Amino acid sequence: MNSSDVIVVGGGINGMMSALKLIQQGFRVTLVERGRCAREASWAGGGILIPLYPWRYSEPIAHLDALAAPQWCELADRLAETTGIDPQYTAHGIMHVRVEDAERARAWSVYHQNMLVPLSSPQAHQKLGAEVTPSLDPAFWLPGRGSIRTPRLGKALRQWLLNHPHATLLEHFEVTSLLTTKGRVEGVTGPQGRQLAPRVVVAGGPWTGQLMARHVTLPIKPVRGQMLLFRPGRALLKLVVLMKGFYLIPRRDHHILAGSTFEDVGFDRTTTREGHARIHAQALAMLPALGEADITHHWAGLRPSSPDSVPLVGAVDDIEGLYVNAGHGGNGVVLSPATADLLCAHITGTPPPIASAPYEIPRSG
Ligand SMILES: Cc1cc2nc3c(=O)[nH]c(=O)nc-3n(C[C@H](O)[C@H](O)[C@H](O)COP(=O)(O)OP(=O)(O)OC[C@H]3O[C@@H](n4cnc5c(N)ncnc54)[C@H](O)[C@@H]3O)c2cc1C
Repeated sequence: MNSSDVIVVGGGINGMMSALKLIQQGFRVTLVERGRCAREASWAGGGILIPLYPWRYSEPIAHLDALAAPQWCELADRLAETTGIDPQYTAHGIMHVRVEDAERARAWSVYHQNMLVPLSSPQAHQKLGAEVTPSLDPAFWLPGRGSIRTPRLGKALRQWLLNHPHATLLEHFEVTSLLTTKGRVEGVTGPQGRQLAPRVVVAGGPWTGQLMARHVTLPIKPVRGQMLLFRPGRALLKLVVLMKGFYLIPRRDHHILAGSTFEDVGFDRTTTREGHARIHAQALAMLPALGEADITHHWAGLRPSSPDSVPLVGAVDDIEGLYVNAGHGGNGVVLSPATADLLCAHITGTPPPIASAPYEIPRSG
């Protein structure tokens, strides 16, 4: 037991970001995580800081992205400064090449302050470096955006919470049910005991629906994504590049992350030979020199997918004090500061920074 104001269930990026923002608002927070923090999708994810092919999403995603984007630089700097763990934020720009739906991209860009810069193939090539495959038309450059190293972001957030006097971090604490009485939440319970607080936020990634099943039906399900890590030993790529739904992310140590698959296979995060082959083929199609590089890792994670990839953020009707921040799909890193802000507004009762209706928790029954 403790005297926290809020319990956050789930130590992924979204649970930890929620805890951080709540603490910044003056709350005392206990975060409970059944394993170790940031080991699921929040470790596996690529860390591209833009919804992939942003023009293919609905406006609620663009609104969250617009709220999150200006926060990343300072957030990463502050985390590095206060924890000594640098999440390696970069903003060298993102290049989309051989875009199949160029007209749609152009129209979206006009509506969004010309965020995308159309480039000729030679111009795109110049930005990407000589090693990238030729003939990149049509190409769209998204300046000012980039990536963060997801596992390092997770470590930094965890350390920030460990350091903070208003945070209690309980790892290896599994929540099996939420404690409720007379229409309000009282805490959580599991094999390791119970924790009490007047507010509970469930940020359990793809497991959120299972945990909430007694109270509300949530349309969140796992979608597996596999990744490969190449070690070329020299700098082959300057910035994030996307082609045909796949991407390459250069790291500061010259390693290149290649992803990803989207597989509806339930809670199964094993890797497959087919996944490896598909990512490998697409990676080499973008950057042929990767054919000579070692592949040092192959892994998979489970995206917490929701309809149209719109996260569910807000209060659960009929149970006072119960909140959700989950269902971010393939954008759970980039959107995390924004959904945490939205959650804070719900909890503090202050005006939300963006209209909150698109993210509301569906009513049960
Ligand atoms: C291959 C891949 C590539 C990706 N690339 C990107 C990208 O480039 N950019 C981007 O923005 N996003 C990306 N994503 C998506 C992003 O990684 C996820 O959306 C995000 O990490 C989800 O974070 P989360 O905190 O909501 O969930 P999770 O990371 O799944 O965390 C949920 C946590 O809750 C805990 N938990 C669950 N149930 C319980 C319980 N009963 N009791 C206690 N704890 C519990 C789990 O152990 C887990 O640690 C990618 C994902 C994958 C898989």
